[in-house]
Amino acid sequence: MTQILRPKVLIVGGGPGGYVAAIRAGQLGLDTVLVESGRLGGTCLTRGCIPSKALIHAAGLYEEAVLASARTGRFGIHLSQAPSLRFEETIDWKDAIVDRLSGGVGGLLRKAKVKVVVGWATFTDAKTCTVDTTEGPVTVQADHVILATGSTAVELPFLPFGDRVVSSTEALALPEVPATLAVVGGGYIGLELGIAFAKLGSKVTIVEAMDRLLPLYDAQLTAPVSRWLEKHGVTVHLGARALGQDHEGLLIQTAGGKSQLVVPAERILVTVGRKPQIGGWGLEQMALAMDGRFVKVDDRCATSTTNVWAIGDLVGEPMLAHKASAQGEMVAEIIAGRRRRFDPAAIAAVCFTEPEIVSVGLLPEQAPEGVETIVGQFPFQANGRALSMQAGDDGGFVRILARKSDHRILGVQAVGRHCSEFAGEFATLMEMGAVLEDVAGVIHVHPTLGEAIHESALKALGHAIHI
Ligand code: FAD
Ligand code: NAD
Repeated sequence: MTQILRPKVLIVGGGPGGYVAAIRAGQLGLDTVLVESGRLGGTCLTRGCIPSKALIHAAGLYEEAVLASARTGRFGIHLSQAPSLRFEETIDWKDAIVDRLSGGVGGLLRKAKVKVVVGWATFTDAKTCTVDTTEGPVTVQADHVILATGSTAVELPFLPFGDRVVSSTEALALPEVPATLAVVGGGYIGLELGIAFAKLGSKVTIVEAMDRLLPLYDAQLTAPVSRWLEKHGVTVHLGARALGQDHEGLLIQTAGGKSQLVVPAERILVTVGRKPQIGGWGLEQMALAMDGRFVKVDDRCATSTTNVWAIGDLVGEPMLAHKASAQGEMVAEIIAGRRRRFDPAAIAAVCFTEPEIVSVGLLPEQAPEGVETIVGQFPFQANGRALSMQAGDDGGFVRILARKSDHRILGVQAVGRHCSEFAGEFATLMEMGAVLEDVAGVIHVHPTLGEAIHESALKALGHAIHI
């Protein structure tokens, strides 16, 4: 017999968009049902942000140990033996973090009195879905529906996933470190995971279609990452196209179509972007307007159908977990009667490469035409804390862009080890409409990397102290 639930709010998808919307809706006293077919936490927590950062961290520790055991041992630290890597234990450790966080999300949902239904939801009309659960079908009919079905990896038709061709999901659960790894796509995932596997001992080759890596950022910002790749023996083919595979590896056409070659590859990691999860759950029954492949929403995340809302990767760029969560929280509050709009001054983004890149607002080259700007740039080489934790010798810096007329900050970027932690300060500056003098007037703790943010503002004002 089909069980029928009639909550005020139905949320489909338990990723950082959906589960945050559910917790907030529960906190606000809304009767809420969350449907998730997999594990709570979605892509981010189970096969994205968290497991990738765990692997990146472990890879960094392993690389340090390898260096300490080599003749190049640094800081007077030497290991008499080369470290051994039991990769299955690394994967177990990563999985334990995922288990803990996914369980924690379950606990938070229970605390917020959200009912979780486990199974795949299929809509029959805009407000009704049926979920296949292990205990039989459950029909959920709600006043409000929040769609948070997320995204999946883009597959290349000539390199279908399977066997040695993997997406990030399989790459985060490999049985062993591949001796050779070809990465197709030098964007966020390709570089983050490519660098991690290079540190773990793989011979990595990156094949990128555009003429530079991370084309989203400017060349100055990505130069330290390119230098790291070169120094660590990672081969990069820019302006190149993957064509397919043969028994030896990945077949590519190099820049300008000049020649074809085979990149040796025990595994081929395809990271050429992600696409919204719009298939297989009855979207076509809901009569929603689309914006290309994404569900179209307004600045309240309202779709074209009354009381059907959509958030996260399903509604477009940037496909970032913190954007999904911010939208989820907002929609829950709107349903509870609050007046909210999704209009952030900026959404910070971090690429967890070696070194890390963090960016918020405009890059210098994106300054609007006719607006005169000033740029202050401060190198980590001149920052004591950076030098004391090896974050000063990779060419990293903080760069601040401001309008010349009133010193209003338009964008801030940094590249350097550990600088992902700047994201919060950068975003706060943008949201508060800060000017250079605001940053210059804040006493930044010594010795911290953050002093470089202060100095970059002083530099833009023409009186940096340490350069
Ligand atoms: P998702 O997290 O994709 O969740 C959607 C959920 O909906 C899934 O759990 C799915 O099972 C469920 N679902 C879909 N359809 C149905 C249905 N019909 N019935 C039931 N359940 C359904 N972002 C960052 O901000 N920082 C990072 O460092 C970062 N690293 C990443 C690393 C990797 C390797 C990847 C792949 C992504 C990374 N991202 C990162 C992106 C981030 O994971 C996504 O932006 C984020 O997860 C989107 O959240 P969401 O809630 O929209 O969707
Ligand atoms: P991406 O858009 O970051 O990078 C894809 C890259 O592949 C681009 O540089 C593109 O030029 C290249 N490309 C496309 N087609 C190609 C082809 N046929 N051959 C060679 N190169 C090709 O996509 P991604 O790395 O798959 O990541 C997907 C999304 O996940 C990101 O856009 C981001 O929103 C999110 N993500 C975020 C983080 C983070 O915040 N740190 C980390 C990982 C993923």
